[in-house]
Amino acid sequence: MNYQKIIDQQRSFFNSNATKDISFRIQELKRLKNALKKNEALLYEAIYKDFKKSEFETYVTELSIIYHEIDLALVKVKKWAKKKKVSTSIVNLPGKSYIIPEPYGSVLVIGAWNYPYQLSICPAIAAIAAGCTVVLKPSEIPSNTAEIMAKLINQNFDPKIFKVIEGSVKETTELLSIKFDKIFFTGSVGVGKIVYQAAAKHLTPVCLELGGKSPAIITKDVNVDMTAKRLVWAKFLNAGQTCIAPDYVLVSSSIHDKLLAAIKKHIEKSDYKVENQNYTQIINTKNLDRLNDMIDPQKVFIGGKGNEQDRVIPPTVLTDVEFSDKVMQEEIFGPILPVLTFDTIDEAIEKVKRFSKPLSCYVFTKNNSIKKKVLNEISFGGGAVNDAVMYFTEQNLPFGGVGDSGIGNYHGKYGFETFSHYKSVLQKPFWVELDLKYAPYSGKKLKWLKRLIG
Ligand code: NAD
Repeated sequence: MNYQKIIDQQRSFFNSNATKDISFRIQELKRLKNALKKNEALLYEAIYKDFKKSEFETYVTELSIIYHEIDLALVKVKKWAKKKKVSTSIVNLPGKSYIIPEPYGSVLVIGAWNYPYQLSICPAIAAIAAGCTVVLKPSEIPSNTAEIMAKLINQNFDPKIFKVIEGSVKETTELLSIKFDKIFFTGSVGVGKIVYQAAAKHLTPVCLELGGKSPAIITKDVNVDMTAKRLVWAKFLNAGQTCIAPDYVLVSSSIHDKLLAAIKKHIEKSDYKVENQNYTQIINTKNLDRLNDMIDPQKVFIGGKGNEQDRVIPPTVLTDVEFSDKVMQEEIFGPILPVLTFDTIDEAIEKVKRFSKPLSCYVFTKNNSIKKKVLNEISFGGGAVNDAVMYFTEQNLPFGGVGDSGIGNYHGKYGFETFSHYKSVLQKPFWVELDLKYAPYSGKKLKWLKRLIG
């Protein structure tokens, strides 16, 4: 496929200014929603083939999020795209100052495999709402979902507006050699660095949605049962293949045993069982082997290694975990929950800070000063107090990492902003002009200027 040709066509379509029209953007967003709604059955089928993700989890964690993003954009895009008046300083009066949101242009979205629909389509929604044209390269690992997205989008959209290009490293490398106006990447820290370097060659701005080790800190005063219930859901949803899942637990030593018992109870009550049709598979054997390797049988409290045939790992909790253990060396990204302890909150914070800035951080506590201390002292992308993962569903909260967990953010209005340049304009009338700034300079003029501008 001639990628350059596709991008040239998108660029020339963008230059026609058709995407500046808000009603055009609304029409394309509606087109996307219709195409997805009409073909939901095919979307469920493809994701089940890829990693046995159930219709329930696919709707709750993928399609409903996509539909909410489209619906919000449909209602708000006019407002988001409005020029915004700001105040003007005395030296420029009687001028006016305003900011015009302007679409970046032709953008590239690269998706990850773990939520293959949502992580590919939500950034595209934001880009279309902002008035950009989009090339989407979904992850090739879940091949059926990549194929169905390509089919539905390429059949329903003019390639000058929105085009899916399937491929793996070779194709992505080729795409990255072309100049785009913005690149939005979701994936690992390692590939994020490759994308950033490729973008730098063209001075292309990036949004990088990366990963990391997200902690859950649990103090002794919590409602243990509710904490365990929320943790089990957040960790084992999608078989732990969630970038914002709690990667590891740091619990106050005084409630360690109580918490483990409650976690066990909620795992046993849940659908997260190897034999259950609603429990997601590990995406491929490479990841299965990587995860099995992290499970030290001596430290298994519940669960254990998975087998290659089913590609399923039961919800697994590890105890007596040390920072030197394999499971603490990298992001887990699977259904393994190491539980570590602390005695003071300073110790917990110090432990979290041994890793680079996480994408998410969760603190479970009734103690207001501990909550404030954690939020104040740990830098992280986003998170929650007394819950995990659910902050992702709040459209008024920007979603993105910080430091090694990412650059930039999206969701709702923040997605629109990610694909927009905010153009500053000062507008002056002709009928009056303050002469003070003009030569010939004099002491008197300087004195007046100092009075005016301080
Ligand atoms: P990945 O980095 O392996 O792949 C992501 C994308 O990059 C895929 O489309 C892939 O085809 C492409 N790619 C892979 N290698 C490449 C290369 N050498 N050159 C160019 N492109 C390449 O990530 P993944 O395995 O799909 O996802 C797992 C990671 O993503 C985890 O670290 C997870 O935390 C992170 N993640 C982050 C978010 C977020 O929103 N912040 C969401 C999901 C996943």
